[in-house]
Amino acid sequence: MLIKMNITTSKHTEMIDITAMVQKAVTESAVKDGVCTVFIPHTTAAVTINENADPDVVRDFTMEINKIVPWEDGYRHMEGNSAAHLKASMIGFSEQVIIDDGRLVLGTWQGIYFCEFDGPRSRKLYVKIME
Ligand code: ZN
Repeated sequence: MLIKMNITTSKHTEMIDITAMVQKAVTESAVKDGVCTVFIPHTTAAVTINENADPDVVRDFTMEINKIVPWEDGYRHMEGNSAAHLKASMIGFSEQVIIDDGRLVLGTWQGIYFCEFDGPRSRKLYVKIME
């Protein structure tokens, strides 16, 4: 089963907690034991799993990744968003989460984040659920 979702980002660099959206898709699939893959079909957005308890983690994450990959650094790519392409590949375009008893198996402090690196934009994500 392939589920397509839309997400609208509101900032240039942003991490959006999509755990509840993905869990809802798993619940609706009625798959109890399996694997869920989240895939981002973009070149300047990504997906990762990290802490969703303290919002300062997201703040620090976005602040630091913007330092590691500065927006302006003599890039040649004409679209002007090379930094976003680089950050997206660094973080990655998919995550896989185990499904057990109909629930995503995540650590106590873990959430799934959609990472926007060249927003705001309308984005898509794909969720594939397999038994
Ligand atoms: Zn580009």
